[in-house]
Amino acid sequence: MPDIPPLRMIQARIAAVAQGRPVHLLAVSKTRTAEEIRALAAAGQRSFGENYVQEAAAKRTALADLDLDWRLIGHLQSNKCADAARTFDWIESVDREKLLTPLQRYREPARGPLNLLIQVNIDDEASKSGCTPAEVPRLADAIGAFPLLRLRGLMAIPAPAPEPDARRAAFRAMRELFEQLRAAHASVDTLSMGMSDDFEIAIQEGATEVRVGTALFGPRHRPA
Ligand SMILES: *Cc1c(COP(=O)(O)O)cnc(C)c1O
Repeated sequence: MPDIPPLRMIQARIAAVAQGRPVHLLAVSKTRTAEEIRALAAAGQRSFGENYVQEAAAKRTALADLDLDWRLIGHLQSNKCADAARTFDWIESVDREKLLTPLQRYREPARGPLNLLIQVNIDDEASKSGCTPAEVPRLADAIGAFPLLRLRGLMAIPAPAPEPDARRAAFRAMRELFEQLRAAHASVDTLSMGMSDDFEIAIQEGATEVRVGTALFGPRHRPA
């Protein structure tokens, strides 16, 4: 049997579950080198997710000859908002109002609005970033007041469970929140949930974007 490259395999697995519905594949490239990203880009992947602003900025510079889409999926500190607004096309980890003014201030108008997802702490984990489900409507309204910020939807990282199927309830709760948000905001079209070990379940439950690292690149070079 021919060796199927991981990107083709993941694309095929997504297509098999999505049944014609478009699902965006975000390649999570934290800890990966610019050359590994370049190789995946050569195979057709355009969208990459990073956890750290500086690490992403360095890779974006090294790969400036390619037209890639960079998305922050890690926690955003207030003092990194200026660099984040310059480096990323999307920020998927917005969880508090305080971030909005600096993101708007440092976004270059020529690049168009910065796309934002609100990160929701859906399992109410004490140690995790993300706002509560109850805080979503207010944060969404606040984003709407900034012309250079565009609300696109929600992101979540459900609590780890030994059985990926145990995350189904969290994915369902996210889907419900997403539908409510979409009814209130015309710009909302993205529900980012599902990683290497549960992206098929997330798609079954309504994910429009999945974030896949290990299954695309292999085991990570260092802890992230
Ligand atoms: C690392 C990471 C992923 C990808 O995880 P894998 O298990 O390697 O697919 C997805 N989302 C976030 C927020 C991450 O930090």
